[in-house]
Amino acid sequence: MTVPEPDPQPGPAPSAPPGTPEPPAATRPAPVGPVEGTRVPRFAGESTFARLPRVDQVGDFDVAVLGAPFDAGTSFRPGARFGPIAVRTSSRHLRPAYSPELDVAPFRTIQVVDAGDAPVNPFVLDDAMRTVRDHAAELITGGRRLVTIGGDHTVALPLLRAVAREHGPVALVHFDAHLDTWDTYFGAPLTHGTVFRRAFEEGLLAADHSVHVGIRGPLYDAQDLVDDARFGFSIIRAADLDRLTVEGAIAQVRARVADVPVYLSIDIDVLDPAFAPGTGTPEIGGFSSRELLRLLRGLDGLPIVAADVVEVAPAYDHAEITSLAAATLVLDILGLMARTTASTRTA
Ligand code: MN
Ligand code: MN
Repeated sequence: MTVPEPDPQPGPAPSAPPGTPEPPAATRPAPVGPVEGTRVPRFAGESTFARLPRVDQVGDFDVAVLGAPFDAGTSFRPGARFGPIAVRTSSRHLRPAYSPELDVAPFRTIQVVDAGDAPVNPFVLDDAMRTVRDHAAELITGGRRLVTIGGDHTVALPLLRAVAREHGPVALVHFDAHLDTWDTYFGAPLTHGTVFRRAFEEGLLAADHSVHVGIRGPLYDAQDLVDDARFGFSIIRAADLDRLTVEGAIAQVRARVADVPVYLSIDIDVLDPAFAPGTGTPEIGGFSSRELLRLLRGLDGLPIVAADVVEVAPAYDHAEITSLAAATLVLDILGLMARTTASTRTA
């Protein structure tokens, strides 16, 4: 049996001894790209995200893709622990060479790797949170960036802990049907519906720079919105898009963020269930995948230091609708990062 190699391009130079200065960007080795789709068909070959090299197959990288297969923080339908494997499978569909919308060839511009999954404890939540934080912290040193595939939304908290330690408090751009700023659920302080209140309490969010986009559906109480505003969020509700238009919504998000480092968190349930049925807590009246892609591409140029795409639960999916949406969002996030790498990666 022939095992396809990641890429026919020349690989990176062997690691330099410690203390050796990094070569300037111009002399860095060309990125090792995905398995070549014209040589090995896209349904074959590596099972990494977009068939990219694994982190141990290259000398250095700019952006890592990490799986966080954890769903013990779920309040309704479980199953997001199978999100990373499903999104990687659907990422085979992607033709990753060039994005006309973003005018970028991400995998020729920056070195992207698949860092595998954080081996989370499925029973002990605190332990799982530590594992995700430690994996993320190790990957993001030196200005390297991270895109995590969930997992339920609980994983955003340890990711924010790692990112804030590296960059200070961040502007959270949060696409979701739900606020995820509730206090407790059945007495539990940490669930996928409470993560961003905890993040606020821990000082991980820059004051008054964060925004929820796509919020809809009934709440437990009107007080939920009062609390949320106190945590420094503004809200663009799903129905606001009709009045604002996509461009107006983008302008509001960009004004909100200003020049603060951005953590981008996309709960796939921000999409309407017609576009993302495979998720734990679906809400009707959401964005189409075309609207979400336009909103996401409108973030071009913002300093996105890390991102996640969470809540894909493939057991409720059909024909990979949801996991393909998530894989495409990850690819576009990598495109956004490729377009801004020169400004954030100095070594
Ligand atoms: Mn949600
Ligand atoms: Mn959420």
